[in-house]
Amino acid sequence: MPNQTHSLKSLNTFHLDAVARSIVVAKGADEMIAAWQLSQRQQEPVLLVGEGSNLLFLEDFQGTVIVNRIKGIETNESESSWYLHVGAGENWHELVQYALNKGIPGLENLAMIPGCVGSAPIQNIGAYGVELKDVCHYVDLLNLADGETIRLTAAQCQFGYRDSLFKHHYQKGYAIVAVGLVLSKRWVPVMTYGELTKLAPETVTPQQIFDAVCHMRGSKLPDPAKVGNAGSFFKNPIVSDKQAASIAESYPDAPLYAQPDGSVKLAAGWLIDRCDLKGYSIGGAAVHLQQALVLINKENATGRDIVALAHEVRQRVGAKFNVWLEPEVRFIGAQGEKDAVGVIA
Ligand SMILES: Cc1cc2nc3c(=O)[nH]c(=O)nc-3n(C[C@H](O)[C@H](O)[C@H](O)COP(=O)(O)OP(=O)(O)OC[C@H]3O[C@@H](n4cnc5c(N)ncnc54)[C@H](O)[C@@H]3O)c2cc1C
Repeated sequence: MPNQTHSLKSLNTFHLDAVARSIVVAKGADEMIAAWQLSQRQQEPVLLVGEGSNLLFLEDFQGTVIVNRIKGIETNESESSWYLHVGAGENWHELVQYALNKGIPGLENLAMIPGCVGSAPIQNIGAYGVELKDVCHYVDLLNLADGETIRLTAAQCQFGYRDSLFKHHYQKGYAIVAVGLVLSKRWVPVMTYGELTKLAPETVTPQQIFDAVCHMRGSKLPDPAKVGNAGSFFKNPIVSDKQAASIAESYPDAPLYAQPDGSVKLAAGWLIDRCDLKGYSIGGAAVHLQQALVLINKENATGRDIVALAHEVRQRVGAKFNVWLEPEVRFIGAQGEKDAVGVIA
């Protein structure tokens, strides 16, 4: 049903004060299709939103925001695996808790990632050594023009680092309506990062990993309910082994992660920190004091403040390391998504 206020403030975790022409909360595919088709007839832009934890509103949105609230969780099992079929509008962290409470492990490393289940495949959410692609069975995708739903297997989703087919081929005119997860009954803990490395591999439980992940995230990342932010603002850049070697020569403490194809992933937060940008602010926007990869809405920031800050961060890192950061956050203009790199370049 149409929302009266049209404010997007509670629909983006930056808490930017943008408005949309209309907001439709869709609890089912039919409502999504109706809202999308009406917008098409009126030749107005449409934006699908989960919880707005990966969005930056640059200005007011001159169209309809469709908020995905399709709910429902079904659980099945075989001898070897658990299967979850989850409505796209379920909250991701609540799903992780739900699974854990049912004795279904495998999602614990992905605890406390904000947003909806249906948004998780889009950038292949990941944390602490696990990515959505590791647990994804299929994604149900609704064609908003003809109302047909197709099921894509995980392999068909073309998952990559913060990437999938949903950012490319299926970006417009499609909505994710459900996600299927498959979790092995032979649980293998992933304990490669931070406090997880200190847990005892022989006795560790999924609950202990969940608690440790929640503790690390709670102590490192600003809570969007208190300080507006969209998590990691930039992607970790991937460079050639040659460029990584030259950075390591000047900065032996630079974190480097070798990739299977020979390239090397750098830590964007480390690069920003090395430019002494923690706490740096422009207008109401600032680089978070503890976690340089996170840009925050410190005080009544506008989308323009965040863009100006992101531009400055990119320039400083580029000038020092010849590495050009790209936003992980999606930029939304008056008519729809904009090329984020182009906006901050
Ligand atoms: C504090 C914080 C910490 C974070 N930590 C992590 C982390 O550790 N790892 C990580 O990977 N991410 C992280 N993120 C980013 C964010 O949680 C994820 O990108 C999440 O999946 C976004 O979900 P959302 O529902 O809020 O999506 P939104 O921000 O609402 O939307 C994201 C994109 O998906 C599109 N979209 C939304 N719903 C649908 C749908 N049903 N069908 C088709 N398209 C749709 C939107 O149009 C938009 O382009 C963090 C964010 C915050 C604020």
